[in-house]
Amino acid sequence: MFINGEWVEAIGGSTFAVTNPATGEHLGDVPDGGADDARAAIDAAHAAFGTWSSTTAYERADILLRAWQLMNDRAGELAELMTTEQGKPLRASRFEVGYGADFLRWYAEEARRITGEWLPSGRADQRFLAIRQPVGVVAAVTPWNYPMSMLTRKMGPALAAGCTMVLKPAEATPLCAKAVFDIFADAGTPAGVVNMVTALDPKPIGEAFTTDPRVRKLTFTGSTAVGKHLAGVAAGNLKRVSVELGGHAPFIVYPDADPVRAAKGAAALKFLNAGQACISPNRLYVSAEHEDAFVSTMVERVSRVRAGNGFEEGIGVGPLVNEAAVAKVADQVDDAVGHGAEALVGGSRLSGEAFDRGHFYAPTLLAGVRDGMKIYREETFGPVAPVIVYDDVDQVLDLANDTNYGLAAYVYTQNLSTAVKAFEGLRFGIIGVNDVNPTAASAPFGGMGDSGLGREGSHEGISEYLETKLGGFAI
Ligand code: ADP
Repeated sequence: MFINGEWVEAIGGSTFAVTNPATGEHLGDVPDGGADDARAAIDAAHAAFGTWSSTTAYERADILLRAWQLMNDRAGELAELMTTEQGKPLRASRFEVGYGADFLRWYAEEARRITGEWLPSGRADQRFLAIRQPVGVVAAVTPWNYPMSMLTRKMGPALAAGCTMVLKPAEATPLCAKAVFDIFADAGTPAGVVNMVTALDPKPIGEAFTTDPRVRKLTFTGSTAVGKHLAGVAAGNLKRVSVELGGHAPFIVYPDADPVRAAKGAAALKFLNAGQACISPNRLYVSAEHEDAFVSTMVERVSRVRAGNGFEEGIGVGPLVNEAAVAKVADQVDDAVGHGAEALVGGSRLSGEAFDRGHFYAPTLLAGVRDGMKIYREETFGPVAPVIVYDDVDQVLDLANDTNYGLAAYVYTQNLSTAVKAFEGLRFGIIGVNDVNPTAASAPFGGMGDSGLGREGSHEGISEYLETKLGGFAI
């Protein structure tokens, strides 16, 4: 764990094991922290806040730029570590390292654009000055699916704003988190500004983060159930909260779309990170007239997606994170098939020498999916593409919006009017229009409804770490 600028063991001395999800190989042991460790981290962040928040934006920007440079310099080794610990194909790991690094550069730039406003008053002898200041100590909890970029997306803006931080990474990917913290240390981040506690049981850490009065903000990325719980406790203690949670993304192929292009997009998007992404499409709504072209292209594409160890050439899908994830995917697919869906490709876990020590599920295409099946309502977080054929184009937005989630949605059409109506009518925070990758450091990422509160990335992302102070000046 990283506390007050030092790598330390847990106070209780215990550790937990980290394994490779493709091979079961034991990768190492990391400290198993508890509430006392979380408090020690908060002590350090609290003590560092006064000095850090008084640095100039130029100094903070320089540190973030050095971290960005180091992350790029180490891209090769970071990607290899990510594939070893998280499982995604090496090419996808390299992409994530670049994406993650970009948040550091973006927020190095934003640090110098934290400005205020000089405002008029109705009184001739009065002026108002509104400024924005860092909120204080930030507690962050991050997931395993994007084990580096989900850290930099929080650490970049928090540090740029002048906040200090305590962070708990996911128990499946602490080594990726350690590598990110090494970068911040090597970039010259002062002691106490960023602190990391690792733990096998996240609950005591979450409890300390959300109840300690010195923590002024919680930022969380993970499941909706855990996010609601932590946000509830944090809000009860009047901490600021931003949470980025689950999704159930619709992907609409309109009658005026090119079905082959849409199918190629869907196949590329669905199997990213083995479907373990909150913006992964979970319902592919295909207009009846395009069913044949769309499905036949998908069959061809999905059949070509190879699952296996992410270090092997040509692998498109790595392992799932653990056995529980495989069981959940299998349960949803079996339920759908039991209710009349058909697995045109895949449909079972993978077995054999290449797969038995890891957690692999076959890239799967399900046809004939409809409401009433678990997969139609529940987030899958696995490599399964469920196709739903629709007849009435006037109802498809209602079908797409009929979910408690509201993170990402995708639309394929060649008609501008259809595109604008869909963009405006979908109740989701992120809409891809003929586009399968609507994310970047420059773009606000976040959801509506059960998908969360707040936005990360873009100039909006830094406001989550700032609060406004008003000065009234009588002259
Ligand atoms: P997933 O099901 O995708 O693993 P989780 O929401 O369980 O999603 O995990 C996301 C992050 O939340 C991880 O870092 C995990 O350790 C953490 N987490 C899970 N439960 C709690 C909790 N009760 N308190 C604090 N953190 C938690």
